[in-house]
Amino acid sequence: MACFEPKLFVISGPSGVGKGTLVARVRESLPSLGLTVSATTRNPREGEIDGVSYHFMSHDEFMRRVEAGEFVEWAHVHGNCYGTLRSEVDRNLKAGSSLILEIDVQGAFQVRESIPEAVLVFIMPPSLDVLRERLSKRGTETPQSLELRLANAERELAFADRYDEVVINDDLDRACAELLTIIENHERN
Ligand code: 5GP
Repeated sequence: MACFEPKLFVISGPSGVGKGTLVARVRESLPSLGLTVSATTRNPREGEIDGVSYHFMSHDEFMRRVEAGEFVEWAHVHGNCYGTLRSEVDRNLKAGSSLILEIDVQGAFQVRESIPEAVLVFIMPPSLDVLRERLSKRGTETPQSLELRLANAERELAFADRYDEVVINDDLDRACAELLTIIENHERN
């Protein structure tokens, strides 16, 4: 008989690939699915709320908490520090449901080291040209940070084949359905 087992899912993919939108859509279908709020040293974008979008903190505070062992994983990404606080994972796991960490490739492999049963899912753009177009349209980046994010995207794509699952975000509805199936299949195993 199939039974439900809560799992930790790590979602990675280049900036602008649509991870946030995909995860938000999946959580509409699976409201019990937890999502950790990451910590970052980057400045908030317009509309972002501290404690909801991210835990925004200074570089000094971030490093103090790294030293104190408060992070499950952390990494330098696009010139800033990002990390997952242990307290965020614990808070979600206590709820007894599966959990999503939306983090970069360096963080993903740190999680795999400490939690080998974590399921790593890579979200791919249909092409780098499409990624450039989506990032430009989003309008959140300066020309310089856009180029940095695209250069990093090429580097990150090379890691896709080390993930347990790969989803191509060519069409939001299709990719969302695929991600939902992946989550449900792993929870049943
Ligand atoms: P953004 O600045 O666009 O919000 O995020 C940039 C990148 O940081 C994302 O593509 C995401 O993969 C990565 N990121 C966000 N939160 C975390 C985290 O907690 N840990 C790690 N390692 N990367 C993160």
